[in-house]
Amino acid sequence: MIPILGYDGKVVGVLGLGRSGLAAAKALEASGAMVLAWDDHETARGKALEQGLNLHDFIRNGAFDGVEVLIVSPGIAHLYPTPHPVIARALALGVAIDNDIGLFFRSFATETWNDYETAPRVIAVTGANGKSTTSALIAHILEEVGRPWQLAGNIGRGVLDIEPARDGEVVVLELSSYQTELARALTPDVAVFTNLSPDHLDRHAGMGGYFSAKRRLFTEGGPDRAVIGVDELEGQFLANQLGASAADDRVIRISSGQKLDNFAWSVFVRKGFLAEWRRGKQVASIDLRQVQGLPGAHNHQNAAAAYAALRALGVGPKQIEAALASFAGLPHRSQTIGTKNCVRFVNDSKATNVDSARKALAAFENIRWIAGGQAKEGGISALSNDLGAVVKAYLIGDAAHAFAQSLGATQYEICTTMAQAVEAAVRDAKAGDVVLLSPAAASFDQYDNFEKRGDDFAAHVQAYLEA
Ligand code: ADP
Repeated sequence: MIPILGYDGKVVGVLGLGRSGLAAAKALEASGAMVLAWDDHETARGKALEQGLNLHDFIRNGAFDGVEVLIVSPGIAHLYPTPHPVIARALALGVAIDNDIGLFFRSFATETWNDYETAPRVIAVTGANGKSTTSALIAHILEEVGRPWQLAGNIGRGVLDIEPARDGEVVVLELSSYQTELARALTPDVAVFTNLSPDHLDRHAGMGGYFSAKRRLFTEGGPDRAVIGVDELEGQFLANQLGASAADDRVIRISSGQKLDNFAWSVFVRKGFLAEWRRGKQVASIDLRQVQGLPGAHNHQNAAAAYAALRALGVGPKQIEAALASFAGLPHRSQTIGTKNCVRFVNDSKATNVDSARKALAAFENIRWIAGGQAKEGGISALSNDLGAVVKAYLIGDAAHAFAQSLGATQYEICTTMAQAVEAAVRDAKAGDVVLLSPAAASFDQYDNFEKRGDDFAAHVQAYLEA
């Protein structure tokens, strides 16, 4: 647990008692604050009571008297589409609003660091897609090169749940736009922006709001190095603003697809090869084509981001190359489960919409595609130009018949269940094929969540691999 600085003897409100809220409340109490906690859901309040927290309904008149700051969970709207009534009240009264990320940054550095040989560092990762993969990949490489690390934020533990940093440790934080928008302190040493595409637009009142929420990670504290994906205009704009000129190496531009040889520092992937350039010269090259855990152009962007962040900390290219090779990928994200008779089985259950499925369909050849579930608006009609590598589709769930209508000349079979789909794909597959679960649909017609769906696929595949 991170001891929190500055609230000893103060009254602090905590709104939202999920994972991060509970961790914040407990860390604050352990640091001498008097915590008043609230959640609209009775079950969450029950859990908090069990843990000995004081519940406090902030809607009553006078409920904010003496409250120094209100700590808010990322799931609770603070501005758009409408602020939660407790937050609206705090805003009207001028009570400061912050979150666990702000508390973390104000408390992370301590006097014990004076005795350390190497000061701890924070790498913070944001972006619309690839945050978890990039963060996990950075942690994996740190592990392989023998650097102490902890992973927290949206992935791993709540930021206040981690241990105080050790000598030379790197804390990797995955941060969402909700988190970066509210935090009162944001001072990572290295900040990473993977990419930007429309998401959560209701919470940010549109794309401009979404971008500016993420942008705060780079502009509030001013990281030593900013790793910026420049495959969209917003990334180019941000990189441009952060650097004095193209010759400023505080910015490392990254790309999947573009050649970036005209900047002080850049990392890009083309045709499966990652290249690092500094001041007009190539300084390193890595073949990513054989890295099973990072298939596809989207994962090559994640690899470039992780590589650049670690180079910013001084890790050597050869060390990173060796570590990349053993990255297994995150569960349910283009994750290779295994290979038998030269047929590879890939679990991409996280692809609950057409945009994500499109990335996986572009990452492989000779695909036996397991798709379907609870259709999103528009079904898979938007994928009509992305089916070139699909040999045959195996359709499951409520959407099976509707999806079949959008497949054009692509062969298909209605399988209904995962068990039947895996069985049929195994029956048909030839050496060199990839059996890919990338559903392009939600899972709720047959499963509690996409993880359960991916686990079911993996279990059927595992049974076949071991048979
Ligand atoms: P996040 O944490 O930002 O949601 P993940 O790493 O969990 O990202 O990946 C979620 C899904 O997004 C993956 O299944 C994949 O389809 C897609 N994805 C991953 N990385 C990228 C990327 N760099 N660009 C676009 N899409 C990506």
